[in-house]
Amino acid sequence: MNPQASHSLAQSRIAVLGYGSQGRAHALNLRDSGLDVVVGLRRNGGSWQRAEDEGFAVVEPADAVRDADLVAVLTPDMVQPALYRDAIEPNLKPGAALLFAHGFNVHFKQIEPRSDIDVVMVAPKGPGALVRSEYARGRGVPCLFAVQQDASGHAEARARAYADGIGGGRAMLIRTDFKEETETDLFGEQAVLCGGASALVQAGFETLVEAGYQPEIAYYEVLHELKLIVDLFYEGGITKMLEFVSETAQYGDFVSGSRVVDAGVKARMQDVLREIQDGTFARNWITEYAAGLPNYKRFRQADLDHPVEQVGKKLRARMPWLQPAETQSAVAADTVTPLVTPFKRVG
Ligand code: NAD
Ligand code: MG
Repeated sequence: MNPQASHSLAQSRIAVLGYGSQGRAHALNLRDSGLDVVVGLRRNGGSWQRAEDEGFAVVEPADAVRDADLVAVLTPDMVQPALYRDAIEPNLKPGAALLFAHGFNVHFKQIEPRSDIDVVMVAPKGPGALVRSEYARGRGVPCLFAVQQDASGHAEARARAYADGIGGGRAMLIRTDFKEETETDLFGEQAVLCGGASALVQAGFETLVEAGYQPEIAYYEVLHELKLIVDLFYEGGITKMLEFVSETAQYGDFVSGSRVVDAGVKARMQDVLREIQDGTFARNWITEYAAGLPNYKRFRQADLDHPVEQVGKKLRARMPWLQPAETQSAVAADTVTPLVTPFKRVG
């Protein structure tokens, strides 16, 4: 970490609210960077014991906020507005900083922060387990950072110091604003990473199985091997993927890829983006959450019940070596059981 940039948090107390995917990783990394961290959680919540077992002072959110110079809001997005109203706004010191890992609530005005505080964002471009395991290896996960409100005159320095503290400064920091981060993050997870990729896999699986091929073979072709391709993308882009697959696979890619994901798909991606930009998605999601998640639960169950999951469960039970390396090293580094499903979310 860069000692210069960390200076602006060196004398500060940081309250991390939430101890889930991001909260746990940030709290551990910040502490290992020598910073003063207190964790704020609901007393009856599931992560209280874990944060305590991992050596943190754990208090209720309002108490964590009261003494803090920087409050990192790392609870689920949908609980943040009430948390801000009840625990943060009445207790935050004048001149303190409020930090988010995603711009949703500020951008869509679910939280309208007090004008006497700094409002910043540090958004790691990876799940919490990776933020932790990369840090433990002396590396980091690239982060976006943004300043929404600079009351102290030091908002950017604080955001950069926080990003350094979680290891992002060892990798890459990219300046953005709340609007750009929010809209691109939502688009990425909906169109490509979570929504697009799982729909592509399900459709490919169904196509093979409905044509009479064995589900086990279909699973390997359209789901299991996707990781090998994505790893090549990650390391060297489409260029590296093309270098590592056969000429036959390349030719098939060229003539069939754009038939499957055609201009109609791109036009519908643009529809999805428009509904993110104009607030339709945010409004629908907030309404769905307030209604007790009826559609969310139904959609989720359909994903869990899909035949690719049934066959996948059986096959993965016979491939114990698939346990991700990141999880194993996170276990080694922290000597605790990893999160139940450390890679469950992109963010
Ligand atoms: P999570 O669901 O993994 O963890 C939530 C934590 O908040 C848990 O410890 C839970 O006990 C606690 N919590 C829930 N309600 C609470 C309340 N009312 N008061 C105090 N604590 C409460 O959340 P996450 O996925 O880490 O997301 C946190 C933030 O990080 C979100 O803004 C999200 O958009 C952002 N983000 C997540 C990822 C990711 O990979 N998961 C990536 C980038 C950004
Ligand atoms: Mg996200």
